Amino acid sequence: MDLQPDAGLTAFREEVRAFLRTHLPAELAGSQHGVRSPRAALVRWQGILNKHGWGAPYWEKEHGGTGWTPQQRLAFDEECAVAGTPSQDVFGQRLLGPVLNHFATPEQKAEHLPHIFAGTRLWCQGFSEPGSGSDLASLRTQAVRDGDHYVVNGQKIWTSYAHQADWIFLLVRTDASVKKQAGISFLLVDMKTPGITVRPIVSIDGCHHLNETFFDDVRVPVANCVGGEGAGWNVTKFLLNNEHAATADLPTLVRFQRQLRALAATLRANGEPLVRQPAFALRLARLEAELQAVSMMVQRVAVLEQDHRPTAHVMGSMLKIRGTELQQKMSEFLVEALGDYGAIAYPESHADEGDAWPVPGAGMGPGIASEMFFRRASTIYGGTSEVQRGIIAKLMFEL
Ligand SMILES: Cc1cc2nc3c(=O)[nH]c(=O)nc-3n(C[C@H](O)[C@H](O)[C@H](O)COP(=O)(O)OP(=O)(O)OC[C@H]3O[C@@H](n4cnc5c(N)ncnc54)[C@H](O)[C@@H]3O)c2cc1C
Repeated sequence: MDLQPDAGLTAFREEVRAFLRTHLPAELAGSQHGVRSPRAALVRWQGILNKHGWGAPYWEKEHGGTGWTPQQRLAFDEECAVAGTPSQDVFGQRLLGPVLNHFATPEQKAEHLPHIFAGTRLWCQGFSEPGSGSDLASLRTQAVRDGDHYVVNGQKIWTSYAHQADWIFLLVRTDASVKKQAGISFLLVDMKTPGITVRPIVSIDGCHHLNETFFDDVRVPVANCVGGEGAGWNVTKFLLNNEHAATADLPTLVRFQRQLRALAATLRANGEPLVRQPAFALRLARLEAELQAVSMMVQRVAVLEQDHRPTAHVMGSMLKIRGTELQQKMSEFLVEALGDYGAIAYPESHADEGDAWPVPGAGMGPGIASEMFFRRASTIYGGTSEVQRGIIAKLMFEL
């Protein structure tokens, strides 16, 4: 991997900055200060990107993406994080999109890809069930064939943003008589289909990101099965490999760095800005060095993936561990930097989305303490750190 400074990359970065200066509406800049932007901001921003031909920054040109190199994607992410753009729909862009590009029929692509580009169809992920998280292959939600439909019954849990999603990609058991991995299928389901019930789970940060999702006699066209009946495990392994790297979430780390630097310059202790406190400055420098290391790992994984190298998978697991541990360290440091104010867990405001939970008054650092609480879960979602270590031990050290 060539890590020499690249003049082309500097020009590309300048192009992204110029685009952001011109096209990022002032009211959207900085709207991403929580785990995910409000739906309206996210949808509007996706529309702006798409109009510019940047609707799929992480996809190859042959699939209608930008065809950017891994370094260009990283530069784009960094510049967006610095400018404080709204987030993109990770489920559509990073998880489902590549699956559709790889496994979907022409009809499925024609139906779904234009909506992912335009941001007009948001997705959620229906994998985990009570009792089937790390051991996903044990899932019990059942889909029984009835003519040209499946009839789905069962329950999913921890379905992030199901309450805002238009569609769900869902793992179901279509055959209970074969080896458990072989009986799984991957379905695309419209959330408006009769029989789907979404119930909120409020997490430790006081916010509504998570849900339980129930399926009672939900009829799904057989044409919505991706990769063919019984091929769901293969599709899932492909998707999870992408998810491990995506949950390292470099843009979030860059955002934390920006927030830390802002607090370090503005908050004072003993009459001096925090950044002048040697202990604070040293800790900030150490975290920034770790961020550099994670950033290089992100590039390395992207290059390995591009070259279809088998080590990409194991490096993705390493990246997931390093990236999420750093998310936790940086978000904790942000709370500590707030001093006494950090003791108050101001939630991020979702008032504009009609959430029923009251949001306490704003103050210094809204969202910072609540996000620190939320990020405790980053070493769980997208595959726990223990499971990632198991993957590394098996693939890297053949244990
Ligand atoms: C905030 C959040 C958002 C989420 N969003 C989604 C979503 O949108 N869609 C979705 O489908 N799921 C989602 N999940 C679920 C997530 O994928 C699971 O929580 C995760 O896979 C772990 O499964 P589990 O919770 O059932 O824990 P379990 O699998 O029961 O694990 C419990 C403990 O046992 C350990 N353990 C389990 N197996 C092993 C092993 N083989 N070796 C060593 N240790 C092991 C785990 O590390 C963990 O510490 C989300 C979870 C969270 C917390």
